[in-house]
Amino acid sequence: MTKPTHTHITHGGRFSWVGEQQGGGALEGQTLVCYLDLDKDLKSITTLEDWQQHWRKIEPDDCTVCMGTGRDSIKGNATKPCGGCYGLGKIRPDGETPADRWQLAEIAGGIIARQRQEIGRLRQIEALPEVREILDKQRDAQNETIARQEQKWRAGRGHGPGGQRATGD
Ligand SMILES: [Zn+2]
Repeated sequence: MTKPTHTHITHGGRFSWVGEQQGGGALEGQTLVCYLDLDKDLKSITTLEDWQQHWRKIEPDDCTVCMGTGRDSIKGNATKPCGGCYGLGKIRPDGETPADRWQLAEIAGGIIARQRQEIGRLRQIEALPEVREILDKQRDAQNETIARQEQKWRAGRGHGPGGQRATGD
């Protein structure tokens, strides 16, 4: 049996990376990834960019039932949590399902700690003067677009009586 190496970030599932090759024809100059969909037993090809964006490596503590999505994949009910990991997507570092509440709490704590670390890292990046400048510019551009749209909307002929929109002021 082929062991899964990757999972789809949003849809889950078990995939096995086969290899890379150079594209030809319309895909000249692009690197292609060949992979095996183990659930459908299907060999497929996608671009390296698509692969890196939508698939991720399976970690040792990923739940093997839902492959980290935390959703119930056995009954296919996306609104219900997975029974293998109680919706966390992660299991014990040794690959075992949590046996009691304390083990479950430890796994949840690990997820929270990792996310806190990641948020801290992102905040540091966000606080850089160069990044703030970009964000400010983006916000200004957005406000300008909204103001322009509103102006156009007010000036435009509406469908109300008299052809002018009733703007309420
Ligand atoms: Zn699970």
